[in-house]
Amino acid sequence: MKKKEAVLLSITLTIGALAPIVTTLAEGSYTGFKNADGTETNEIKPEQTLYWYENGIRQGVYGDPMNIKDPNYDGYERGREIYDPKSDAWYWLDANNDGAIAVDKEVWIPYTNQEEPSTTNGKWVRYDKYGQMIKGWYATEEGAYYYDPITGEMLKGMHVINGKTYMFDPVTGLKYYVSYSNSPLVDAVVLSQYTDGQRTHTIDRITPHCVEGQVTAESLGAWFRNPNREASSNYGIDRDGRVGMYVEEKNNSWCSSSQFNDQRAITIECASDTWHPYAVRDVVFEKLVLLCTDICERNGKNKLIWFNDRNTSLAYEPKPGEMVITVHRWFKNKACPGDYLYGRMGELADRVTANLSQKDIKIR
Ligand SMILES: [Zn+2]
Repeated sequence: MKKKEAVLLSITLTIGALAPIVTTLAEGSYTGFKNADGTETNEIKPEQTLYWYENGIRQGVYGDPMNIKDPNYDGYERGREIYDPKSDAWYWLDANNDGAIAVDKEVWIPYTNQEEPSTTNGKWVRYDKYGQMIKGWYATEEGAYYYDPITGEMLKGMHVINGKTYMFDPVTGLKYYVSYSNSPLVDAVVLSQYTDGQRTHTIDRITPHCVEGQVTAESLGAWFRNPNREASSNYGIDRDGRVGMYVEEKNNSWCSSSQFNDQRAITIECASDTWHPYAVRDVVFEKLVLLCTDICERNGKNKLIWFNDRNTSLAYEPKPGEMVITVHRWFKNKACPGDYLYGRMGELADRVTANLSQKDIKIR
């Protein structure tokens, strides 16, 4: 055996069954796209069948050592991702299609030989009609999607993009149209600085509190602006049943000694006695029923639920249309919302749910 043949043989042995790669070694050093007819090109046109070559060798075919193998499907070869500096875009070479680029297609990329930190085991990405990986917003006939500007990963669940909160379907990634609003029942607006800004969870809880004081809407607002307090609520109902807004509904308040709760809850402080059982006036309770009805109605809920049990309530994942009552004493060793309000939570839930079942809800 001549020396040259021996070298070739050893390459063949090293890369196993990849005979086509060895035969194309002689084809030269071309790196770039080729059309289906084998002509070289760097023009990217819509709906084009393109193949990617490195040093004259077609990439992303079965047996390409750079192919991503899917651990969820017995190491099934999916193909590989490449970056083309000429067009400044990422492409997917589909091993199931002889390495042709994926065009107008969603692709599941398992995290096997990618060093991307993630709690999931892969990501959904999408390639447009040019075969280029989509970054950012993408509109389709069924609706809008958003793909991470760096990794191209399709977003699911709730995300803040450029300071705005968006909700995407947890399975399909389709954008929901969530718009936050505030109650038309508000009589006084005194915005508190105690918020982290936009919520990181959609609204699915209401947490009524007792103030331990027969305050006015304005004085409670001043209290929440006091730099020594570091506390706030979304709304307050004062001793005369007037409503104050201190943190807009789109933002979280600092109210229930639980960040997790307040990211998803509308918190409402109710003017009350300063002594046990921290009773509230009838006019306050009646306004609480109305305000909770309004909050549920504007946030697409048709049912307010009171479980009267901490663990059940906190473990419960509300279905669409459901709102759950939680109370401060479940998060901290304190009396809030007081035994008076606590004893009327079932009534609150029932009356709000009854209101929501009416065709024309008269809020104001
Ligand atoms: Zn409280």
